[in-house]
Amino acid sequence: MTITARSHGATDRGRVRAVNQDAILVAPPLFVVADGMGGHAAGEAASATTVETFQTYSGAAAVDAQTVLDTVAAANAEIIRRASLDPDIEGMGTTVVGLAITRAGTDDAVVIFNVGDSRAYLHRDGTLRQLTTDHSLVAELVQRGELDAFEAEDHPNRHIVTRALGMTPTVDVDIVSVAPLVGDRFLLCSDGLTREVAFEEIGIVLSTLPDPSAAVEELVARTHAAGAHDNVSVVVVEITAVSAEAVGKTLDVDTEPGAAGGTTAGPPG
Ligand code: MN
Repeated sequence: MTITARSHGATDRGRVRAVNQDAILVAPPLFVVADGMGGHAAGEAASATTVETFQTYSGAAAVDAQTVLDTVAAANAEIIRRASLDPDIEGMGTTVVGLAITRAGTDDAVVIFNVGDSRAYLHRDGTLRQLTTDHSLVAELVQRGELDAFEAEDHPNRHIVTRALGMTPTVDVDIVSVAPLVGDRFLLCSDGLTREVAFEEIGIVLSTLPDPSAAVEELVARTHAAGAHDNVSVVVVEITAVSAEAVGKTLDVDTEPGAAGGTTAGPPG
């Protein structure tokens, strides 16, 4: 390994929901947050299926970007297959956001992948930036200039996602490749965090807390203090060492929406 990281994750039911439909995987070199959708056991089944599919690669020394895309496609197919066998979980879907420390030849990179409205952020040199774009109705309206960010926060349709796993036989995956620096902190989270805790506050926690587990615990605590109306999942991956061959590349060298092929999923039914 030429990139070394330490990490911590937590998933929590929150204070309102009866069950936790989020699921996480913290299994270096892979980290995943999935936020399941669908009534009655369906959401849990979809997010759990996604994590199970990725678990296949836990403990591998390194994966490559194509493996990540293939695994997202495999999770999508498995959700559809299981849903077709059981009317109780028919129509289930899930978001997925993940981080993989990938290797192509001797080059390591941090690859972020995303479908839906869970998010990835990078905290570097005291500055927090969002790496992913939400696949949601309100995000699309904001992009088209029909809503501002403030209106989007309280929009009645803010929960509608426009891409998810389990909806269509193929799914578009957004991919961002990042050359990490020592001290970088990557955050993966479900919307249960970002709807409750402000962007600035998340930045302060990542700036000040000494290690990933302390940061994760503090973000979950602040979500609870704000009411925790949804399930909340938080994973923090901190880069502790980067060897020579991975240094010197620029941020965001590669963005390939649609790299997994296929059409965009519709809103979950
Ligand atoms: Mn959620």
